[in-house]
Amino acid sequence: MKPDVFEAPDYYNLDELLSNEHKLVRDAARAWVKRDVSPIIEDYAQKAEFPKQIITGLAEIGAFGPYIPVEYGGAGLDQISYGLIMQEIERGDSGVRSTASVQSSLVMYPIWKYGNEAQRQKYLPKLASGEWMGCFGLTEPDHGSNPGGMVTNFKDMGDHYLLNGAKMWISNAPFAQVAVVWAKDEDDRIHGLIVERGMEGFSTPETHNKWSLRASATGELIFDNVKVPKENLLPNKSGLGAPLGCLDSARYGIAWGAIGAAMDCYDTALRYSKERIQFGKPIGQFQLQQKKLAEMITEITKAQLLTWRLGVLKNEGKATSAQISMAKRNNVEMAINIAREARQMLGGMGITGEYSIMRHSMNLESVITYEGTHDIHLLITGLDITGLNAFK
Ligand SMILES: Cc1cc2nc3c(=O)[nH]c(=O)nc-3n(C[C@H](O)[C@H](O)[C@H](O)COP(=O)(O)OP(=O)(O)OC[C@H]3O[C@@H](n4cnc5c(N)ncnc54)[C@H](O)[C@@H]3O)c2cc1C
Repeated sequence: MKPDVFEAPDYYNLDELLSNEHKLVRDAARAWVKRDVSPIIEDYAQKAEFPKQIITGLAEIGAFGPYIPVEYGGAGLDQISYGLIMQEIERGDSGVRSTASVQSSLVMYPIWKYGNEAQRQKYLPKLASGEWMGCFGLTEPDHGSNPGGMVTNFKDMGDHYLLNGAKMWISNAPFAQVAVVWAKDEDDRIHGLIVERGMEGFSTPETHNKWSLRASATGELIFDNVKVPKENLLPNKSGLGAPLGCLDSARYGIAWGAIGAAMDCYDTALRYSKERIQFGKPIGQFQLQQKKLAEMITEITKAQLLTWRLGVLKNEGKATSAQISMAKRNNVEMAINIAREARQMLGGMGITGEYSIMRHSMNLESVITYEGTHDIHLLITGLDITGLNAFK
């Protein structure tokens, strides 16, 4: 792969909207991605393996629990810093960002928000340092967009719960020590349970043959009469709103992350357009190529503004789920379109691992599907503005 010479586009001087802390956090994450992710990520994606050696670095840049309080090992940062870290990591690779998103928003967040103090003390510091990795089990083989239909369930056996069922498409599952699993009790109410590797009857087979998110490990969670200690139930929130609350936080991170992938594709295509000579000129001198680049930077700038504003609302505790859905949907589609156009600008070179664009392009096919598909986010906006439910 080519050396990482990325320069971030900032067409509307958005850096002026950021605090010194935001910029420090972002620049540290950017430097780490250049040093520790870019040189190795193509190889790991090609061999479909998560690069476990980067876990410590992810923890050091604050990617595990950026907004979790320092007393629990988190970085204690605001929502814009969290977003900027996700942007920089996904500039490197969406699979690496997925690992960080799951750890922070889908494992640490529910333990912090819905767990009791003993659970926070037991799990959060180890998850923040990367000593333990976590995964989040919501999707099932027959219930993806409709998680409320889940069949995974647990029964109260007096001194423990008995958990049965299966989850599918679970990021980090093959190596996670801890799984936050959503399951129904005997009254059909959804609860979160912390399941640990090693519990009898719990297995995590890996999902192979993915063409997307290859540097992120995906697997199933299988529960065959797993005895879960009663103290592992998250006591402070139940119902479908509990997992959806985690998804709000993760989708917000994805909205920022997608900008990172788009910026990397744009920057690569811009540089290539000045170097690649055809018909005796750099291809960047042809109007058709300039149109592509001009539209890319316009869309990136719009997404940056939308997402920065969402970050401000989130810091104020005012961002709604529907606003987050709009940003996730808009930004991922923006990134996927830019990856496709950028890929074409590199001609044949665009399909090789010499450049990051094809990997981003394939990765974004997962990003546009997970944490609510593109169509589901549109329906969320539709419901929000009309008050009419088109889901069912
Ligand atoms: C790489 C990867 C990693 C993932 N990681 C995780 C994870 O860590 N944890 C986890 O729990 N899940 C994870 N997922 C699962 C992901 O969230 C689901 O794939 C996603 O929610 C879609 O569910 P589905 O694949 O079952 O598709 P389906 O729900 O079967 O949808 C199929 C199609 O039907 C459309 N559709 C569905 N319902 C409607 C409707 N009412 N109206 C209109 N159209 C509709 C959808 O938009 C989609 O286009 C991951 C997925 C992938 C690919």
